[in-house]
Amino acid sequence: MALSNIDPINATDFLEALRGIPVLAPYSFALLCDNEEIASIGRQPGLYCGVLGENSICAKQCRAPLEKAFRQAIETGKSTIFQCSAGLLNFAVPFHNNTGRPCCIIGGGVREETLDLSQMEELSNSASENGIALLEKLENVPCATRDGVMEAAVQVASLLPALSGENTFVVALDKLSQRLSAITEVSTAIDQAGSGSEITSLLSEALLILFDLPRIAIVLAEGESFSIKGALGFTPGPDNIKTDKVARFLQSCSNRKPVALKGEIAALFPDIGASQAICAPLSSENNSLGMIVLFDTELHCRDLLLIEILASRYAEKLLRMQKASFYGRQGEIASSLLSMISSLSIIDNRNELYHKTMEMAAELLQASRGSLMLIDETGQGLQIVAARGINMPLAKTMNIRMGEGIAGKVAKSGFHLLVSDIERDSRVGIPNRPRFKTKSFISFPLKVQDKIIGVINLADKETEEAFSDEDLKNLQTFSDHASLMIDRSVSLERFQQLEEMSVTDPLTGLYNRRFLESRFNEEINRGSRLNQAFTVMMIDLDFFKTYNDLCGHIAGDRALSKTAALLKKSAREMDTVARYGGEEFCILLPSTSKKESIFVAERIRRAIESHHFPGETELPLKMLTTSIGIASYPEDGEKPNELIHAADLALYQAKKLGRNRITLYEAKMQHQQNDTRTG
Ligand code: GH3
Ligand code: MG
Ligand code: MG
Repeated sequence: MALSNIDPINATDFLEALRGIPVLAPYSFALLCDNEEIASIGRQPGLYCGVLGENSICAKQCRAPLEKAFRQAIETGKSTIFQCSAGLLNFAVPFHNNTGRPCCIIGGGVREETLDLSQMEELSNSASENGIALLEKLENVPCATRDGVMEAAVQVASLLPALSGENTFVVALDKLSQRLSAITEVSTAIDQAGSGSEITSLLSEALLILFDLPRIAIVLAEGESFSIKGALGFTPGPDNIKTDKVARFLQSCSNRKPVALKGEIAALFPDIGASQAICAPLSSENNSLGMIVLFDTELHCRDLLLIEILASRYAEKLLRMQKASFYGRQGEIASSLLSMISSLSIIDNRNELYHKTMEMAAELLQASRGSLMLIDETGQGLQIVAARGINMPLAKTMNIRMGEGIAGKVAKSGFHLLVSDIERDSRVGIPNRPRFKTKSFISFPLKVQDKIIGVINLADKETEEAFSDEDLKNLQTFSDHASLMIDRSVSLERFQQLEEMSVTDPLTGLYNRRFLESRFNEEINRGSRLNQAFTVMMIDLDFFKTYNDLCGHIAGDRALSKTAALLKKSAREMDTVARYGGEEFCILLPSTSKKESIFVAERIRRAIESHHFPGETELPLKMLTTSIGIASYPEDGEKPNELIHAADLALYQAKKLGRNRITLYEAKMQHQQNDTRTG
């Protein structure tokens, strides 16, 4: 718009724009042409400045000095500094334009630092003004020096030529609207950015370009302290800034006024070389995320507001990103916890379970070292059953007593220990061992209901951070399940041991007669269902009574145990080898015909014959041997006792025929026996 079309609305916008310039911010402005006030801001219409109120003496008297200054400025063509009757400092800057009307920009409404009390007195006396009220009003007026006022006038004068062309008023306005639209664009870019460093650099660049700020620091919360993430115009130190210091700094500049960089505040930015700073908090949803610090700058209120708008968009986005990454990590953790727990539940090998538990816990908490300890059978000590980052053979030799050392204490008390700094924690208070990278660790009890079964220890987080409460929570969930699995596996193994004990013979380790009977029934069921044969072998040591008499009962026991081992070795995997009683053994050969069984029987006979038993040469056959009787299902019997009886008859036959031999049952043996009984 051209100056010829001065209209009040554009003029007001123009004056607003003037106030957007930092050094001009405290002033009220008016555009006067002839005796007409075209527009004004920061003052009451018709009043010179309005600082002291509409009805004050000052309002009544201000017209005269103003008109005088106006005339002087127009006549000389130069800016004039003048004081009104209330002592306020003002300036009149002539405004050359093509309307032919003499115009001035009037700025004012500031006062010198010290009030002229005699002038005050005179003012209040001459107009019965309340001196105290006048003083109070004046105290709220912004201060400026005469030089400062002159500088402001020069600033206004320097802007005016740009306003005298076709784009009158618009230049400054444009600057403001450009900033606003730039801020909108930057905000959108921040919203759409993908990473923390991207939004921080967008913010710092926007501050630098839009507000021409020489040095900026973006200080962000990081764990339990703060650190400088975006630094423009200086190199930040590596040190973390304590939370309370940031809080005090924010407190000291809460009124948007610059604070002097000295003492504790200066120490936050040791290499900045600035004398003052303004800071704007970065917060969103009541979360204090950090602050923006602007060094050595005097910003107009409106610019600070714009910066605060930008800061709040940045903070919102930052919080969103932090939440997303937190929930993202939580989501990841939750799903990996689920898969860990379900994969643990299908492991049936105890050592593998220990190993997996250790690996999973370490992975969950990103720990590069750890150990899994279980309370031993005595209940007095802990045994390392799995480890990460520790030599396992060495770990196995470690004897940890309950109640002693960190893990021992945790196992005894059942209370976990989360230590951030081993050297500073009074509960531990021992120097960090050199093999550990970090000073933080977790020692966590493994419990099943109230029973403590062991301890899991984790140290050296891969990120080199301390373990957090979040880590503790995740470990709790994981270990609740892992403890159950471990306890179940230990119980299962003990049960299996017990069960084995009840089905095996303690001297030979072979199945006992009770177990053999149950196997017999299974085989008969299967045999009848599938019409399948199976074979029974009765084995008896020859002249064993003699062997006992010759070599003693202990040697006899050893010979029995050795015989058992030879039987197991000679039989096949699928065969059930049992001690039937005394020096008699029974083997059940599933899916095996009588003929097929001969090969197994012969292997057994030879194995015993060829083994050298101590003292055997004194026996009638010069060696310890066996006789074997064989009977098969269903041809020789359809019930267990029938089959055993048949095999026994065959065995008897073998003895009769001279021992150390195999005899297959034949029906005639039944009659022979009957004959023997009756005969
Ligand atoms: P045969 O060749 O006719 O079988 O002669 P034998 O001496 O082996 O006679 P028999 O089978 O009747 O003798 C069984 C002997 O085995 C009796 C006992 O001294 C011995 N015996 C049985 N059970 C044990 C045991 O648990 N330990 C030891 N050392 N000897 C046993
Ligand atoms: Mg016998
Ligand atoms: Mg015998």
